[in-house]
Amino acid sequence: MLKQNLSKVALLVSTALVLSACEPTTQHVEQNATATKPALVAAYPASLQTLTAGHTLYVPLPWGASTWRVQADRNQLQWLDAQGQVQLSVAGRFSRVTAQPLDATRGVVAALEAESNSLYLWLLDTAENRIALTLQQVVNSRVVEDLCFYHSSENQQLSLFILGGRGGADQLLLQQQQQWLANPVVIRELNVPYDSKACAVDDASGSLFIAEADRAIWLYQAEPEAEEGRELLQVGQPFGAINAEIIALKALSANQLVALQEEPAALLLLDDGKISQYPLAANSTANNLAATLGEQQVDFYVSNEEGAALQQLTLALALPAVTPKAAMAQVLPTLQTVAASARGDVIDDPAVWHHPTSAAQSLILATDKRAGLEVYNMQGERVQQLNVGRLNNVDVRYGLAWQGEPHDIAVASLRNNNSLQLFAINGQGDVLPAGQVATSMQEIYGLCMYQDATTQAHYVFVNDKSGLFEQYRISAANGQWQGQKVRSFNVPSQPEGCVADDSSGVLFVGEEDEGIWRFAAAADASSDGELIIKVDGETLVDDVEGLALGYHAGKPLLIASSQGNDSYVIYDALPPYALRLQFRVSTHYQLGIDGASETDGLDLTTRSLGPGFEQGAFIVQDGRNRMPEQGQNLKLVPWQQLLEKLN
Ligand code: CA
Ligand code: CA
Ligand code: CA
Ligand code: CA
Ligand code: CA
Repeated sequence: MLKQNLSKVALLVSTALVLSACEPTTQHVEQNATATKPALVAAYPASLQTLTAGHTLYVPLPWGASTWRVQADRNQLQWLDAQGQVQLSVAGRFSRVTAQPLDATRGVVAALEAESNSLYLWLLDTAENRIALTLQQVVNSRVVEDLCFYHSSENQQLSLFILGGRGGADQLLLQQQQQWLANPVVIRELNVPYDSKACAVDDASGSLFIAEADRAIWLYQAEPEAEEGRELLQVGQPFGAINAEIIALKALSANQLVALQEEPAALLLLDDGKISQYPLAANSTANNLAATLGEQQVDFYVSNEEGAALQQLTLALALPAVTPKAAMAQVLPTLQTVAASARGDVIDDPAVWHHPTSAAQSLILATDKRAGLEVYNMQGERVQQLNVGRLNNVDVRYGLAWQGEPHDIAVASLRNNNSLQLFAINGQGDVLPAGQVATSMQEIYGLCMYQDATTQAHYVFVNDKSGLFEQYRISAANGQWQGQKVRSFNVPSQPEGCVADDSSGVLFVGEEDEGIWRFAAAADASSDGELIIKVDGETLVDDVEGLALGYHAGKPLLIASSQGNDSYVIYDALPPYALRLQFRVSTHYQLGIDGASETDGLDLTTRSLGPGFEQGAFIVQDGRNRMPEQGQNLKLVPWQQLLEKLN
């Protein structure tokens, strides 16, 4: 929505002329004669007044019944209560102040002292008339140009973007699930344009706006696990509306952004693709922008570095009502595997192998889409790397003799030659290549295994991007393994993830854009499937990726990667397939482990994997491995954490 609306770079600039103190007068002039189809410029009635001089910063805090404010001159920053009494003074040359309400009466304020490049954070409780300094630290990572908060109601995180002018920004996590961090941590470093001067965030849409000098305004995603891409929202003249350096930004809604131009001082309103400009002639230059949002109007306060005129511009502008997103359940990873050596979309699908006697010596296998199979121990260290080719999905079953000895079996889909790559796993956990089985696939893709509870026979289900599934029986002959195709069936479009329940003989299949199917797993069963859970764009958002099963209280649960909204969904694996839990894997800042997002494959075991995972583990591929930015890896969440949310 935002992308469609704000990203139009209009070739049209309007100019509001003659704004006098008490007479709201606005006129707009089309300046660009080359625009053959001029867009209509919607202007809002505006009034401009000049308030007292002397403020380099002026930020009203309209929280609760009373409006406090923070103001600064060239020597100090002051907190004033609703009666205008100074409650706190802090010496220094403060260049930025930004504020974030937290609830009806409380909020947090961040400020930058420019001489020492120090960040200050205060909590204000207007009901208790209390200000508390919670952080004061020198920022060593970069010379700070601007600060902007991001409060995600859905992910229950409060963070602060620290924007540097030399191409970088830090996202500092301050609060998670209502808990303040004793030591805030940088959870993401962003690459931003070299001359970035200003930032702003719209909380509801998770939009991070960054202004690049007089050249451009960019849109990034504020979520720490979001993709890193950016979009161009507006550019400098002659192609766009920006005609001076942008020194401050304020987001009014997902589709309404205000930019303060430094010299000549003017506000640009980017409004749903339309652009208005409001000159602020009383200031030769402008530097700081604050706003209070009313139901029918927005008041902007503009000051400059010299503390010349403080101007208040009021726009009769009704903002859209926004309902914050409901909080989503969060679980925290307690272990991550070593990063893939290559960047990009490399790791795809994990599978657990349980050691027969020692849970802590169990292994996690994962496919590397470039190279082969990775094997990790329960410390997350790589213990084996089998460079057999471009593997996509992998699964494990137990108890199939190989070369005359008992072995367990892993099978992976091999894209080099559309075959099944077999691996034998001995009792010590050594993983050995054990041959290939040709398939009739054109574009082999997803895969899962099944052991028939009645016959004990081992099977592989493998799919093709066309929607074709084939079922192979794997059996031992003369010490080697061989595969025999026993059945084929189809889903209408591209599938990938699948999982079979050995005890009930049910196969679940993800059709990436459509939903989850149920088939009977037995080799001689009907090939008619049933679409049991549909992609709905809210709970289950395409692509449907990895699927896994686990038993809880004697009943099977189905867990799916809802890749399109970076979350996971647990359903009853029995009709009517009720939704049990929707959740995310969030940042474990104490352990320095980032959250998981864009997950492809996943696995779940409810058996012990040793200390910390006594109840088992939920294992996901993380498409964006951060803290620091590295190749992809897997995140492990103790199953216990999810049991607590399910009960
Ligand atoms: Ca991927
Ligand atoms: Ca896929
Ligand atoms: Ca991540
Ligand atoms: Ca995949
Ligand atoms: Ca990491």
